[in-house]
Amino acid sequence: MSNLSTPILSPRTVEVPPHPQWPILNTEETARMKARIRALLDAQNAVLVAHYYTDEALQALAEESGGCVADSLEMARFGTTTAARTLIVCGVRFMGETAKILNPEKRVLMPDLRATCSLDESCPVDAFSAFCDAHPDHAVVVYANTSAAVKARADWVVTSSIALPIIKHLTTQGQKILWAPDKHLGRYIERVTGADMLLWDGACIVHEEFKSVALERVRRLHPDAAVLVHPEAPDDIVDQADVVGSTTQLIRAVAELPNSEFIVATDAGIFWKMRQFAPHKTLIPAPTAGEGATCESCAHCPWMAMNALQNLEQVLRHGDQEILIDPVIRKRAVVPIQRMLNFAQASIGR
Ligand code: SF4
Repeated sequence: MSNLSTPILSPRTVEVPPHPQWPILNTEETARMKARIRALLDAQNAVLVAHYYTDEALQALAEESGGCVADSLEMARFGTTTAARTLIVCGVRFMGETAKILNPEKRVLMPDLRATCSLDESCPVDAFSAFCDAHPDHAVVVYANTSAAVKARADWVVTSSIALPIIKHLTTQGQKILWAPDKHLGRYIERVTGADMLLWDGACIVHEEFKSVALERVRRLHPDAAVLVHPEAPDDIVDQADVVGSTTQLIRAVAELPNSEFIVATDAGIFWKMRQFAPHKTLIPAPTAGEGATCESCAHCPWMAMNALQNLEQVLRHGDQEILIDPVIRKRAVVPIQRMLNFAQASIGR
C-alpha cells in the first residue's frame, strides 16, 4: 500500500530557468559549429554523452563523433567503457554527477551546470536522510534523478529501465522499500510488483503535464495508434498505455510494434531517435494542452533545453562547468550505482 510521505518540496515550487535564447543557426552555421566542436573534442580527447531528451543537433553530433546517445543507465555505463579522458555530458546535472562518481579520474563537463531536474530538486538530502532514519527496516532505493548526496544515502540506485526487475528482486527477498523521489514511478512499480513501498512526494514537471481527458480524445481520433507512456507520468496516463517503459524501451516499441501510428507521452526530444529507427511511422505527441495547461506544457524539459551547440562549444573552449564531487560522498554513492550496473549486467546483459 502506498504511503506517501509528507511533501517536502512540491515540484511546482522549483524555479524553472528561462530557456537560453541562443541565436538560431542556419545549416551552414550549424555545420561550421559542429566542425569546430569535433576538432575541440579530438584535441581534448573528449567524448559526448547525450540524453534522448536533448536537442537533436546535440544527439546527432554525439553519434557522428563517436559518442553516445542513450538513457541514463546506458549513459552511466558508456562513461566507464570509453577511453576518452573527458566526458561532456549533455543532459541534466545528476547525469553528470553519475558520470563523475563512476569515473573519478576523468574530467566531466556539462554545457550548463544549472541544468537540474524537478525530481532531484524535490529531494534535499537532509530531509531525505531523516525519512530514511525514520524507517530503518526499509531498503532505500532511489531513482537516478537524485543528487550524489542522496545516492550516497541509498542501498540501490535504479533507472526507469531497470527499476522493475530490481524491486521484484528485493521483494522476493522479503524487503520493504523506501522509494524516492518520483511518486508516479513509485506507484507504477508498486502496482506492477505488489512491493511494500513508502513513497517520497516528488514528480517530473514534464510528465505531470500530460492530460488524460485530452489523451482519450486523441486515442479516439487515432484508434489504431499504440500509446507509449513513460512511467514518470501520472496513473491516469499510464492506465491508457499500450506500452509503459523507459526511453529506450519506448524507442524499441516504435521500431518493433506493427502499428504505423504512435501516441507518445514523454519528452518530445525522444522523437529524433524514434524517427531514426522508424522513419515511416507517424509519431503523435500526447496532449499537454487543455484544462490545467500552463506555459510549461510543451512536453520538453526546460533543463534539458539548456544544452545547446553554442554552450557546448563554450565549455570545450573554457573548461568551466566542471562536475566536482566531494570524495567522501563519491565513495558512498558509487556503491549503490555499481550495484545497479552489476545487477543489469547479470540480469539483462546491459
Ligand atoms: S524530463 Fe523530468 S525527470 Fe527528466 S530531467 Fe526533466 S524534470 Fe527531470
